[in-house]
Amino acid sequence: MDDLEVWFKDGLRFKCTGCGGCCTGSPGYVFLSEKDIETLSDHFKMTNVDFLKKYTRLVDGQSALLDRPGSEDCIFLKNKQCTAYEARPVQCKTFPWWVYHLREPKDWEEAAERCEGINHPDAPIVPSEEIQQQCFAYLDNLSDS
Ligand code: SF4
Ligand code: SF4
Repeated sequence: MDDLEVWFKDGLRFKCTGCGGCCTGSPGYVFLSEKDIETLSDHFKMTNVDFLKKYTRLVDGQSALLDRPGSEDCIFLKNKQCTAYEARPVQCKTFPWWVYHLREPKDWEEAAERCEGINHPDAPIVPSEEIQQQCFAYLDNLSDS
């Protein structure tokens, strides 16, 4: 993304309200890169193999987090809080700065329908440079999957 060309050069308004909405419900999977698996395994003081067995499933050949049994909530969501917050996957860390949300203003508005922190009136404007850094981190992580 060239900083001079992006449509969000003046930044975008976002602040997570902690509603937990993006950690619940379907559709959607939290896919894990090799690095995510390492980080989460360390966090839970488990081997990678034990972590994968306990917390993940394969979706289209890729490791993804399980849902909490009997729900559509992420396995790590408890009382609307992420119990693995410091070690959460890059897919979660970089939300909502995913390329699919940033291609054009319409994408951003659609993402706002699913996340109350996007365009929230009390949210600060996140600068374009930071948005692009996050977006590249998301893409890098995909290539590491
Ligand atoms: S849906 Fe948006 S506001 Fe709610 S927890 Fe997720 S990122 Fe935060
Ligand atoms: S790992 Fe944490 S932040 Fe990511 S979906 Fe699960 S509960 Fe939400």
